[in-house]
Order: sequence, then C-alpha cells, then structure tokens
Amino acid sequence: MNLSFENTQNAFAYKSTSDLKKAKFLISVIQSPIMVALATKLTPIFIKLGLPINGILRNTVFKQFVGGETLEESARASKLLGSYGVQVILDYGVEAKEGEENFDHVTEHIIEAIDFAATQNNIPFVSVKLTGIASHELLENLNEAPRLRSGVHDSESEEAAWQRVRERMYAICDVAQEKGVGILLDAEETWIQDPIDRLAIELMSVYNTQKVIVYNTYQLYRNDRLNFLQLSHRIAKEKNFLLGAKLVRGAYMEKERARAQKNGYPSPIHENKELTDKDFDAAALYCIQNKETISLLLATHNEQSNLQITSEMGKIGLSNNSNNIHFSQLYGMGDHITFNMAVLGYNVSKYLPFGPINEVIPYLMRRAEENSSVNGQTNKELVMIKQELSRRKDKK
Ligand SMILES: Cc1cc2nc3c(=O)[nH]c(=O)nc-3n(C[C@H](O)[C@H](O)[C@H](O)COP(=O)(O)OP(=O)(O)OC[C@H]3O[C@@H](n4cnc5c(N)ncnc54)[C@H](O)[C@@H]3O)c2cc1C
Repeated sequence: MNLSFENTQNAFAYKSTSDLKKAKFLISVIQSPIMVALATKLTPIFIKLGLPINGILRNTVFKQFVGGETLEESARASKLLGSYGVQVILDYGVEAKEGEENFDHVTEHIIEAIDFAATQNNIPFVSVKLTGIASHELLENLNEAPRLRSGVHDSESEEAAWQRVRERMYAICDVAQEKGVGILLDAEETWIQDPIDRLAIELMSVYNTQKVIVYNTYQLYRNDRLNFLQLSHRIAKEKNFLLGAKLVRGAYMEKERARAQKNGYPSPIHENKELTDKDFDAAALYCIQNKETISLLLATHNEQSNLQITSEMGKIGLSNNSNNIHFSQLYGMGDHITFNMAVLGYNVSKYLPFGPINEVIPYLMRRAEENSSVNGQTNKELVMIKQELSRRKDKK
C-alpha cells in the first residue's frame, strides 16, 4: 500500500473527540504570532510572580506537547502510542541549569529514563542535550579554543570540567549499551557545537563497534553539514565504527542569523529554505545509500522528505520496518505523518519530553513559537483536525 498522509482517522485515532477539540483550540491560538509573542513574554513573569497559571498550562500546551511531569506519567502516554505501533524517544525535557550539582542530577534522570526505556518494548531511544550536563560557557570556550583542536588544553580548570562532562556521557552510554537503548545527542547552536561533535565522534568510536548505540545530530540548515555528515562517515569507516545519524533541519535559525549579523561573520545558515531542503534530502539519501554502515533517524515533519525516503526504500527493496531506518516527529506535532506511517509498519516514533511543568516551559515556548512561525504545516494540522471532527460527527 502506498504511503499517504491524508487519512485523518488513522492520524487521530488515539485522541478522544474532547481532546481533539482542545487541540483544535490550542493550535488556532498558537497560530497567532501576537498571542505567542505575548505568552512567551508573560508566562515567565507570571511564574516569577507566583501567579497560579500552572493549571492553565497543564491543560493546554503542556498536555499537547509533553508526556507528563514524571516518568510514570509519561509511561501512560508512551503506552498509548505503543498501542498504535508508535515508538517513543524519551527526553528529560528540562532546560539547562548551570552548576555541577545540577549536571549530575540531570545525568541521574537520563540514566533513570534509560532504565525505564529498557523495560518498555516501544522506547528504543533516549535523547541527551549536552547543555543539560555541561556548562554553556565551557562549551563556548572549547568551541573557540584552537588549543583544544591541537590536542593541548592550557586551562586546567576547563580541562577538569570537560573531563567531568565526558565521564557523565560515558556513564550514560555504559548503561545505554548494557540495556540496548540508543542515545541521541541533540544538536545545538553553532557556537557550542564543535565540542559536542567531537565528543559524539569519540563516543561513537567506543560504543558503535557492533551496533549503533550513539547518534549525533546533523542540522541541514547549516551550509557545512552535508559535508560534515560525509566526513563523519569517512572517519567511521576508517576507524571501524558504525555511524548513527539523526537528521534535522535545525531549530535556531533566527538566533544564528542574528548573532552572525551582530558579530559580523557570514551566517552559517543556508540563504533560503530550498537550499536547506535540498541538503536535508541529499543527506537522507546518502544515509540510505550507505545503510550498511549508517543508522538513520529522519527527524522531520516535512511530508516531502518522508515520502522521498520511503519511496527510495521501496525502490531498493527495503522493507518498511528496515531496522537501520527510523522516522520521528515531536509529540503534539505531525500526527498525520506518524500514525499513517505506523499503520504501514515503518519504525516511527514520537519525541516525548517529560519533566516538572515549571522546568519545561522554555521547551513549550519554543514549540509554540515554532508552530506560529511554520504556518503552512500548522495550518495543515488544523485543517486535518477539523476534517476528523466532522468525520466523527457525520458517523454518529
Ligand atoms: C524528533 C525531532 C528531534 C529534533 N531534534 C533537534 C535537535 O537536536 N536540534 C535541532 O536544532 N533541532 C531539532 N529538531 C527540530 C528541527 O530542527 C526543526 O526545527 C523542526 O523539525 C522543523 O523542521 P521540519 O523538517 O520538521 O519542517 P519544515 O517545515 O520542512 O522545515 C522548517 C525548518 O526549515 C528551516 N528553514 C525554514 N526557513 C528557512 C529559510 N528561510 N532558510 C533556511 N532554512 C530555513 C529551519 O530549520 C526550519 O526549522 C528536532 C525535530 C524532531 C522532529
């Protein structure tokens, strides 16, 4: 059967009519850039003032985009997804707080998430944001430091702090390997990404010798990343490890461009969306064509990109559930893609964040902003929800 994203009955089967109505309301609201700008400004102020807005958040954006405040709560969302053939990427979604104690605390939560994932049959991955376990300033300094590139680090305290970050990642990956859970290292801003990439390559060379445990993330809105993906693959072949490649377009476009302009360097981001799309699709094809040595996780809500890869899989005779090829969308977005792919047996997952409501607010605000800025996609989501609601009404 050919893949199509138009079936609203599949797409929203997991949502009750009342939940679907709430989603319709929320998506209509966050389509308005003015509402989103207001909410992103006011929410942190309301929280600081101690105003009781948690209840409102819990029943709106939190419910739409987050699995729950705890692992146990997320387990419910995750089981529900599993009953529709949808897998889960668990993400301890709190935003980075500076301080070694906080970094150790986040490491413990990530390890708990891996332990939990190993007990479930539909949670193959846990994601890790390095800024959750490393100081932003340290990463920025390391990114700048040519001394580290030459292998000699002249700041003892930074060197010691970096060793602690490495130890945290090794502790995470040891448990992941023992339990057979994949680790997805998120990609962040260009001015801290270099040390993340170097650590990812190091970890892949240690943990990916037999199967892929560690994945690095490649942001194809960057004009150097198709090249970097191919370079990473060359290194993997030379050093005899398997490459884990999570492909995304990239989440920090405005910030990247503004910083480049302010500091007077060329923007690392493609000039237009077409160039980003072209590199994203070329990177995905490259991974499929090298699937013996690359495990691909295609993280996108873009219909065309998903269709291109599934069609390529068909052409080269790969089964839908081919084990080196995964697809993923964020929880609360792109259900028409996720659930229609799951019906046809593709390895498809939802990226499911969890964490205390106050601490996942920055994540929620990013989702709201993303939904108000990628209007085409959100419009489609809204149209489909309306179609499904009227289909259910007609059926009665
Ligand atoms: C499972 C999952 C994990 C993710 N993990 C990460 C991560 O680790 N790091 C990260 O940065 N992001 C991550 N993202 C977010 C991702 O990078 C995108 O922001 C988001 O998915 C939207 O892109 P799209 O391919 O889904 O949709 P599309 O609507 O096809 O693309 C929108 C994207 O295109 C790019 N774009 C838009 N306009 C232009 C323009 N004028 N010029 C150049 N490029 C443009 C931007 O990247 C924008 O986000 C993740 C997304 C998913 C689904």
